Amino acid sequence: MKKILTTLLIASTLFLNAQERCGTTAITEKMMSDHPEYAKARAKVNSQTVQWIKDHPKHNEKTIITIPVVVHVVWKTNTHNISDAQIQSQIDALNKDYRRTNIDAINTPNVWQGIAADTEIEFCLATTDPIGQPTNGINRVQTSHGQFGMNSDIHTSSAGGADNWPNDDYLNVWVCDLGSGLLGYATPPSNWIGDGDGLVIGYNYFGTIGTLQAPYNKGRTATHEIGHWLNLDHVWGGGWGSCGDDNVSDTPTQEQENYSCPGYPHNPNSCSTTNADGDMFMNYMDYTNDACMNLFTNGQKTRMLAAINQYRPNMLNHDLCAGTVGFSETLNQKRELIKIVDILGRETTNQPRNTPLIYIYNDGSVDKKIIIE
Ligand SMILES: [Zn+2]
Repeated sequence: MKKILTTLLIASTLFLNAQERCGTTAITEKMMSDHPEYAKARAKVNSQTVQWIKDHPKHNEKTIITIPVVVHVVWKTNTHNISDAQIQSQIDALNKDYRRTNIDAINTPNVWQGIAADTEIEFCLATTDPIGQPTNGINRVQTSHGQFGMNSDIHTSSAGGADNWPNDDYLNVWVCDLGSGLLGYATPPSNWIGDGDGLVIGYNYFGTIGTLQAPYNKGRTATHEIGHWLNLDHVWGGGWGSCGDDNVSDTPTQEQENYSCPGYPHNPNSCSTTNADGDMFMNYMDYTNDACMNLFTNGQKTRMLAAINQYRPNMLNHDLCAGTVGFSETLNQKRELIKIVDILGRETTNQPRNTPLIYIYNDGSVDKKIIIE
């Protein structure tokens, strides 16, 4: 009997590894064994978080928190060297998911609509680099390194990766070829932070346009991994068949991770007879397809805000996002239209359809527009 059990256990472990979409649990365990200081610091995080939430009943003293991001694109072939537009599409997806303006928010089952959170966390590509120079927040590094998997070479330029920007000030995101099976991983926070702090994501799972591999093509790998970076656990709380605790009270206890896209309700009463709603498989911290995911809860929001305030406080006050979206909008709002002319320079007021028109503004700017009917 004992022998059969052992065989079954090995078989299930191999099966799990073959489908692992997130390497955060594995990397956290490796970091804790490599750096005993990290293990000590991580051991205190849950009690420190509970205490912080108790001490700060309003949770979020600053309304919107904007996190400056640097994306290190570590590429060997042109396919890995994803476009600026693909990177921007990931930032846009993060802002939608974290502010709950994602169009699929309506797919959250009614029973959980009331606890679905606008986390009030936003992201920008950093506009100032560590030495104060303007940047687009994208650092491209060519490499001869093979697939990275969970190899820490990715964090060091001399090893074929890219050096991090200061972890206290920026969210470092490395995009590279991870090889098959693994979508990404992240480092959960604590009072000890090493050089590899941030996220590592496969180039084919990053963003919503460009080089992408379905069904992980809606930017939710980064949404999920940033959840870990801000101290969220997987919704099932840990190992296989664990009915574990994710330290968040408003996510139902669930037995294990979910893949693909189940229907609601899924696995009701699998961990207790009082959970008729079953698994919250559409939570960003499960393993379902990108198109299946659509919410963080209020409890997860509180835990993320506690993480920023305790372990990543520089994200609360900085000017590393200055001049991003708001700047050009302000400029556009301030200028006044002087006149509209056609391509022959004749002033026009009736704005004919399907004809190119030139709009001239008082700040010297000119827009070419066609009103199509
Ligand atoms: Zn994960």
